[in-house]
Amino acid sequence: MGLYFSHPSSLEHDTGGHPENASRLRAIEAALGEAGWPGLDRVEAPAATREQIGRVHTAEHIEAIERFAAAGGGMLDLDTIMSERSFEAALHAAGGPVDAVERLLAGEDRFAFCALRPPGHHAEAGRAMGFCLFNNMAVAAAHAIEAAGAERVLVLDWDVHHGNWTEAIFRDDASVLTISLHQDRLYPYDTGDVDAPGEALLNVPLPVGTGDEGYALAFERVVEPAIRSFSPDLLLIGAGQDAAASDPLGRMSVTVPGFREWTDRAVALADECCGGRVVAFLEGGYSLRHLPAANLAILEGLARLPSSFPEDPVGCDIPRGLREVERAAVEAAAR
Ligand code: ZN
Repeated sequence: MGLYFSHPSSLEHDTGGHPENASRLRAIEAALGEAGWPGLDRVEAPAATREQIGRVHTAEHIEAIERFAAAGGGMLDLDTIMSERSFEAALHAAGGPVDAVERLLAGEDRFAFCALRPPGHHAEAGRAMGFCLFNNMAVAAAHAIEAAGAERVLVLDWDVHHGNWTEAIFRDDASVLTISLHQDRLYPYDTGDVDAPGEALLNVPLPVGTGDEGYALAFERVVEPAIRSFSPDLLLIGAGQDAAASDPLGRMSVTVPGFREWTDRAVALADECCGGRVVAFLEGGYSLRHLPAANLAILEGLARLPSSFPEDPVGCDIPRGLREVERAAVEAAAR
């Protein structure tokens, strides 16, 4: 069994008609309920402490988020909205992963999925941005290293947007290697280059329209060799699903079986390197057509259960085959 972390406050982080809203979680959990919560123990995410969040964020940032929520919320920037309950939700969105890391590194469970809002991978040490308040993956990685006995943590971030935090927070921290597969030049626009400075990051910017075959090549040529040579104690996955073919923000062509394949590859690497220990994070994914199935496919993969989706259930017109432009992008990142 694996752990499925959720918390009621995730549904109270009210962003109105923003694409990142609570209906995402409701759609995911309706599909999981219908499937009988396959291989999952449901766990309520505890709140992170200020000390745990403070490992990667400034005290001023934490206080500013708390004050903004207490004042009723509003727009933090053009993309990022808060409501009165958003601070509470953000504490639990960071605290679930901390608990997950502790349980996995203590050998209690093999995998955890954090179905919590707000997402985290754009938040920088002193700045909320891109729908994100606290950087949940960074908090988890720092906790694993500083308090839970891990020496090396690998972050595999396949959300379609580049997780700029890696360049802002961990880029020279040799204990945390981040591999990011993302759509080139999508938000936040000016990060995620192949040659971005930093010892501890590996960026794979992929062209618009990259599909299952292009991503498979990226796993073979970049992700798998890098994870094997880093040999982590724990694998964190930024398991965003906004590379799905019907996503309104991403422009990639990934299918539900594609997400399952990535999960299978990640699980096989975790088995090889770190006793199968994986903590996955919801992050992005905004198509309510693809999100429930893609998420279920990822969870079935983590739980090592047969897939409910041998074919893409959405059935939108998805181009097939590996294009030269995808091959060239992967080869540039592999160098
Ligand atoms: Zn995203």
